[in-house]
Amino acid sequence: MVSDVQIRILVDNRADKGLVEEHGFSVWLEVFGRKILFDTGQGKALLPNADTMECNLELIDALVLSHGHYDHSGAVADVVQRAGSSRIFCHANAFVPRYSIESGEPPRNIAMSLHNGEALFSVPDNRVRWVTRPRMIASGIGISGPIPRLHPLEDTGGPFFLDPEGRHSDPIRDDMAMWIETDRGLVILTGCCHSGLINTVEHIRAVSGVEKVYGVIGGLHLVNASRDRLESTCHALRQWNPAFVVPCHCTGEEAQSYLRVALGERVISGYAGFGFNTSQKTVSL
Ligand SMILES: [Zn+2]
Ligand SMILES: [Zn+2]
Repeated sequence: MVSDVQIRILVDNRADKGLVEEHGFSVWLEVFGRKILFDTGQGKALLPNADTMECNLELIDALVLSHGHYDHSGAVADVVQRAGSSRIFCHANAFVPRYSIESGEPPRNIAMSLHNGEALFSVPDNRVRWVTRPRMIASGIGISGPIPRLHPLEDTGGPFFLDPEGRHSDPIRDDMAMWIETDRGLVILTGCCHSGLINTVEHIRAVSGVEKVYGVIGGLHLVNASRDRLESTCHALRQWNPAFVVPCHCTGEEAQSYLRVALGERVISGYAGFGFNTSQKTVSL
């Protein structure tokens, strides 16, 4: 069990003064002196923000990719270059071609760029871990592996396809989350949460064997969620009863307001520059 986890949001759709904002997500974690980078954002914000926030990417022990979308994998090449000896945890499907197709709009390529994919494949085999099932990175720090999609109301949250014609929907099988086992329960970290928050949290509770949820932080991708899905998500959160929920990135403004009304002050919107330490009694700005 870990008592002291430092979490700092390096990249988000919103940013504190003096930091770069972009549609993307990246989080710096420090647990027992181990430094882990979870996602890299879209590419422009990570390096300047990490420098401003004095998070030295050369020191990271591991890079974890939540999934292969461009807004999470856009600075992989920069990280590979800076962090010469870190391990990389990633699902093999993170490299598949993928598109977002809104009605009436041309298909948008939202895959990991070739440049970043090549950088990842240039890393020696002994430092890359292809994640196919739940596994630990270190004692008390886990990666979910692919998340079973069990809840009837949870979908990937957008018009995602594997081909530009929109014939094959993209189930985003590579979507993964992380967890940290603290003495107050699980801290769960999501990238875009394309698997759905209920599916994600229930999977992690099952595989970790830890029932208590201390906090959730990350993109929740509820931007297109129905009222029923939002209500189910809030109902599940009330049952888990976490001390904090920090929705970020792709959660959606309306969904964030909905969560705040339903769950109160423990819901705090994240932004680049936001940070806290889980040994604090409360999470506050
Ligand atoms: Zn995203
Ligand atoms: Zn995504």
